[in-house]
Amino acid sequence: MATTTIEQTSIRTHPPTLGAIDGFRGRLIGADHADYDSARALWNGAIDRRPRLIARCCGSADVIAAVRFAREHDLEIAVRGGGHNVAGTAVCDDGIVIDLSAMRAVRVDPAGRRAWVQGGALWGDVDHETQLHGLVTTGGIVSHTGVAGLTLGGGVGWLMRKHGLTVDNLLAADVVTADGALRRASADEHPDLFWALRGGGGNFGVVTAFEFGLHRGGPTVLAGPVLWDARDAKQVLRSYRDFVRDAPDELGTVVRFGTAPPLAGIPAELHWRPVVMIGTCYAGPIDDGERALGPLRACVPPLLDGVGPAPYVGFQSAIDSTVLHGWNYYWKSTHLPELGDELIDVLAGHAFGCASPRSYVALFHLQGAVGRVADGATAFGNRQASHAITLDAVWRPGEDFGARDTAWARAFFAALGRFRQGVYVNFLGGDEDPGRVREAYGAGVYERLVDVKTRYDPGNVFHHNQNIRPRSGRA
Ligand SMILES: Cc1cc2nc3c(=O)[nH]c(=O)nc-3n(C[C@H](O)[C@H](O)[C@H](O)COP(=O)(O)OP(=O)(O)OC[C@H]3O[C@@H](n4cnc5c(N)ncnc54)[C@H](O)[C@@H]3O)c2cc1C
Repeated sequence: MATTTIEQTSIRTHPPTLGAIDGFRGRLIGADHADYDSARALWNGAIDRRPRLIARCCGSADVIAAVRFAREHDLEIAVRGGGHNVAGTAVCDDGIVIDLSAMRAVRVDPAGRRAWVQGGALWGDVDHETQLHGLVTTGGIVSHTGVAGLTLGGGVGWLMRKHGLTVDNLLAADVVTADGALRRASADEHPDLFWALRGGGGNFGVVTAFEFGLHRGGPTVLAGPVLWDARDAKQVLRSYRDFVRDAPDELGTVVRFGTAPPLAGIPAELHWRPVVMIGTCYAGPIDDGERALGPLRACVPPLLDGVGPAPYVGFQSAIDSTVLHGWNYYWKSTHLPELGDELIDVLAGHAFGCASPRSYVALFHLQGAVGRVADGATAFGNRQASHAITLDAVWRPGEDFGARDTAWARAFFAALGRFRQGVYVNFLGGDEDPGRVREAYGAGVYERLVDVKTRYDPGNVFHHNQNIRPRSGRA
């Protein structure tokens, strides 16, 4: 698949020690460049790394040039898609960042129901272009999240119970592997690589373009939040457990514990009040959604019922302002089983113990189409879990909630210990035990990932990530 060059510029800053990169047409940003600080900044403001060089690529040829250059100079490599990962693996100290943020083109084939998406695109870019044709695919729930990192880890979102994970909709990918070659991975071409890319993260090369299958959806969906007082948390969660057990695949829900954010649609008198907020999105006819959601909305009298017909694109960016770039973040995460009473007690007992009004907990309901794909069919692990939870400490620069809410997230995570059932690799933080990457896949998938890693990246060139080590590569 050819990639489009969407930024062509002759602006180059030659870093003092490294010089130019042969055959590279994008921008090279060294420490003396005026854009250096903005180019190395990540979504997570708590990460502060200083690469020697940022190679902002225009297309696959630039990525190849950058990979070869890094290998010739034995440079540490970090790969940046949307820059959203909480662990901050998209930027390294001292080495080179292969930065795809200028590669955001999306092209849709409406008749074939396919989208070609460059490796630096954000989910807002995909939704914007696909909705032009009344088409959708499963993406993230925040529009400024990168397509690449999210897809390579698996991809959970509102539509996953109906249409599967993002990786279940991936048809092919263009990948620059560690040897500097551009390969197309699909069911027919390098199928082992294609398997590994569907969950194994950034371990196998730099993906310069993805090809996704699309479905009919939007432009209007039944969606929105229902809010209850935090004091009703246990009762709401018990009703929610019973409700989701039989919920149709069309219904995606995410439970958010925290204060009510100051979003459009939430009245000012509720802002910053501790609430249980269940976000909903129905991927089907509005009337069917109204019927399906009835029991949840009526289970306990809510503070606010904000569910109604909404533009899909708008809904996909509705909570963007609650997780802004440059704030500080610390996450813990695990998959969980169905919400038994004991688990509900732990959730309700810890969820509101944070100090920052911006810290929150998100509980994604999985299953549906996610669990119907066989374990091991892709490299996404733990498909049978009921929920994925993230415990998210959030504090703005200058605020002093960091230490307290980091401790809150850790204590909460410890309390969930006996319920843990694996983890989603993309929700892992930067300070995890090494065994957690294996936990994300389970032993069988992990060993197979090691085989593919050993075949395509035996020297562990791509290791600044949630790393799967080849059998004989560097740590
Ligand atoms: C606010 C927020 C909301 C989120 N919501 C969701 C959600 O709804 N669903 C979900 O599944 N996840 C979600 N996530 C997690 C998300 O999947 C990860 O943060 C993911 O890494 C983001 O992708 P990115 O391209 O922005 O990552 P980056 O930070 O750019 O990169 C992270 C890693 O991905 C790899 N990578 C990135 N680009 C490429 C590429 N082109 N080729 C090869 N490897 C690459 C590299 O190893 C890199 O170190 C969310 C994260 C945040 C912060």
